[in-house]
Amino acid sequence: MDTFESLGLSKALLRAVEDEGYTTPTPVQLQAIPPLLDGKDVLGVAQTGTGKTAAFALPVLQVMSRGRPQGKRHIRALVLSPTRELAAQIDERFSAYSEHLDIRHKVIFGGVKQNPQVRALQKGLDILVATPGRLLDLIGQGFIDLGRVEFFVLDEADQMLDMGFIRDIRKVLNLLPKRRQNLLFSATMPKSIADLASSFLNKAVMVDVSPEEITVERIAQKIMFVRKADKRRLIVDIIKEEDVYRGIVFTRTKHGANRLVKQLDQAGINAAAIHGNKSQGARTKALANFKNGTTLILVATDIASRGIDVDDISHVFNYDLPNEPESYVHRIGRTARAGKSGIAYGFCDESESGYLVGIERLIGFEVPRDEEHQYHYPAAIPKPGQKPGKIKDGKSSGGRSNNSRNRNSRPNNSGGGGRNSRPNRGGGGNQGSGRSRGQGNRGSGGNQGSGRSRDR
Ligand code: AMP
Repeated sequence: MDTFESLGLSKALLRAVEDEGYTTPTPVQLQAIPPLLDGKDVLGVAQTGTGKTAAFALPVLQVMSRGRPQGKRHIRALVLSPTRELAAQIDERFSAYSEHLDIRHKVIFGGVKQNPQVRALQKGLDILVATPGRLLDLIGQGFIDLGRVEFFVLDEADQMLDMGFIRDIRKVLNLLPKRRQNLLFSATMPKSIADLASSFLNKAVMVDVSPEEITVERIAQKIMFVRKADKRRLIVDIIKEEDVYRGIVFTRTKHGANRLVKQLDQAGINAAAIHGNKSQGARTKALANFKNGTTLILVATDIASRGIDVDDISHVFNYDLPNEPESYVHRIGRTARAGKSGIAYGFCDESESGYLVGIERLIGFEVPRDEEHQYHYPAAIPKPGQKPGKIKDGKSSGGRSNNSRNRNSRPNNSGGGGRNSRPNRGGGGNQGSGRSRGQGNRGSGGNQGSGRSRDR
């Protein structure tokens, strides 16, 4: 059986893992920890929820605790993360895993005063977790020196590129010493990420645990057809009728999130919004209240929700269906984690039926319909033969336009221009074969990450 012991982790880390209640390593941990302990670079296709943080944090800590250079502490590991929430969560994981080690770490991000961050930097750190903007800002002010970094982790690389951080990443890469170990994690592997990876990873081992394959199958889902104007009544009814323990509601816009929070509030439902316009303090508070159960419902936009790591979510509501089918999979993956049960509702109004077609095409099956509710609206049901809805700037309605991103394509994928990463649904098609695994391991030697794990 695969155990943490068998991965070669030190006693101090095994104790920390045990303190956390982890009994067995997750697939990404099984695949990534041994090569990282061996000093290899790793290219990981995995998203939040797979245990990827421990997959890089444990080996980083182990390598760093093997011996601390003499003199004042300096930054030996740099973890770049796209959002403040994710950065804070990574740092919190470092706290947990380094409990029995003499390691100092700190997270820095924008939107808060820089002085406490500067003070921590001046005291000396081993590990720095950062968002790109604040990192470069403090480098510019002379508070950070990356000249002795041994370990560089780029987390959620696809999100980084989506958020326009590519130039910042390049600037950071230029400041790092040539000799170092690298790790890149991304939920998807479009060509832009493969190119970025090949520009700085060295003979990387590819680890692929795309979670789309597990989540869609296991999660109970329902689609409800409803007029846009009736959505708020429908959600209030469901929240009141069902035993919602902890629910996340996804809206398309920040404004929509705020409005819904007010409406839920008026119905006596305790809700809070989390999105990019909220101050860091408000976001942290909303998240803390949601985690401790004070707030029943968190209303979020996709970006803000990235990286929110809350395990026992009973309900996910796609209040607005996402126009990117992959977002649906990411959103519903918030529930039924760690073996818990949960349900994902999707509200489809008359303008969203094309999105539903796109989602079902991606996941490979029809999401069960619930047409028994009071607000059922048949006009929102997709018409026979209806094409997938436009994806953002797509000009044609019959799929993705040429300039739309193919988020799931694998590097150099030979499977043609179609969608390459279909969830494992046990049906026909080219699933699996359409993914050219290991090609992210460009220009490098053997791909040791074969044998994709589907067993979670
Ligand atoms: P991550 O994908 O790193 O955001 O981790 C998702 C969640 O899984 C976090 O709450 C971790 O504490 C938890 N986790 C990570 N590794 C394990 C493991 N081996 N067993 C159980 N839970 C884990």
